[in-house]
Amino acid sequence: MEAFFVSLGEKSFRATQVMKWIYQEQVVDFDEMTNLSKALRAKLKEQCVIEAPEIITEQTASDGTRKWVIQMGCDNRVECVFIPEEKRGTLCVSSQVGCALACTFCSTAQQGFNRNLKVSEIIGQLYAAQNRLGDEKRITNVVMMGMGEPLLNFDNVVSAMNLMMDDFAYGLSKRRVTISTSGVVPAMYRLTEVCDVSLAVSLHAANDELRDELVPINQKYPLKELMEACRDNVKLAPRRTITFEYVMLDGINDSVADAKALIKLLKNIPAKINLIPFNPFPNSSYQCSSEVVIQRFQDVLMKGSLVTTIRRTRGDDIDAACGQLVGKVKDKSRRHLKLQLAGN
Ligand code: SAH
Repeated sequence: MEAFFVSLGEKSFRATQVMKWIYQEQVVDFDEMTNLSKALRAKLKEQCVIEAPEIITEQTASDGTRKWVIQMGCDNRVECVFIPEEKRGTLCVSSQVGCALACTFCSTAQQGFNRNLKVSEIIGQLYAAQNRLGDEKRITNVVMMGMGEPLLNFDNVVSAMNLMMDDFAYGLSKRRVTISTSGVVPAMYRLTEVCDVSLAVSLHAANDELRDELVPINQKYPLKELMEACRDNVKLAPRRTITFEYVMLDGINDSVADAKALIKLLKNIPAKINLIPFNPFPNSSYQCSSEVVIQRFQDVLMKGSLVTTIRRTRGDDIDAACGQLVGKVKDKSRRHLKLQLAGN
């Protein structure tokens, strides 16, 4: 934007002024940008558009969680979720239309894949959400845990996260921006080099045999390689920890032996575990582990010195919980067709 303003014969600081209007004041009408000259405003109106993504539907769950379906071009829609808590407000942001990975317990996976979201479509989710929330609630945290695998849309996701942290945009601290990955190992190394945000890894299994099945990208980047990439990431800063997400699937990955294997796997990695109760969706073949089993799993991990929290399920009465986001995907991967043919 600085280069753009210079090309108009203006000073480069105009770029930060416009950024502040858009992201901090929620102003997208050039006429309202009163610290720009009238002549510049006229020029901008001629040459530029500021377009916020269009919200198609908005739902509020009984616990205050809000879900928006956002239009992305003609055939595609993604979902974006705001989770209010007493002292913070977390926005769960999508990175792709659908997902190219095929994790067996995730409903986004069943929809297939269409395309990567653009930088504007990612940062636009913050704009649209904050706009709807008004002054009453602020977005204090962002998790790249909506639809898609963020590290498979690397450049756009990194640019958007940089905007989230930029003082002239949302000014979020790097601790409050989290990227979650199913384990795209080469991209994890790249991320460590270029962008210092918090990292979460969707682990879900402590051995390759089971992880190959639940998170098929494990067949390409097995646990040993994934753990090395995690160690590389924490090397950067001494007090850094990685959050490992672990979905609790009844009879699949929730035994005491599984918990012990997890302790062994994460030895020497500064880790926090976040146990996610499985959220069901139509045609899902799994059940959530019982509360007793989840509790037992947590106890074993804590005894093994792993800080372990259980993610409270939020927004499930409006299908806004983890793994329930579906949007509308004009599938190009034909996966949903294959699943239908297979009687799924
Ligand atoms: N593709 C990235 C970003 C998605 S994050 C990743 O895999 O990390 C969404 C989180 O919710 C992931 O940890 C995912 O494994 C988890 N999840 C997916 N389906 C779920 C379901 N049905 N119930 C609970 N958690 C689920």
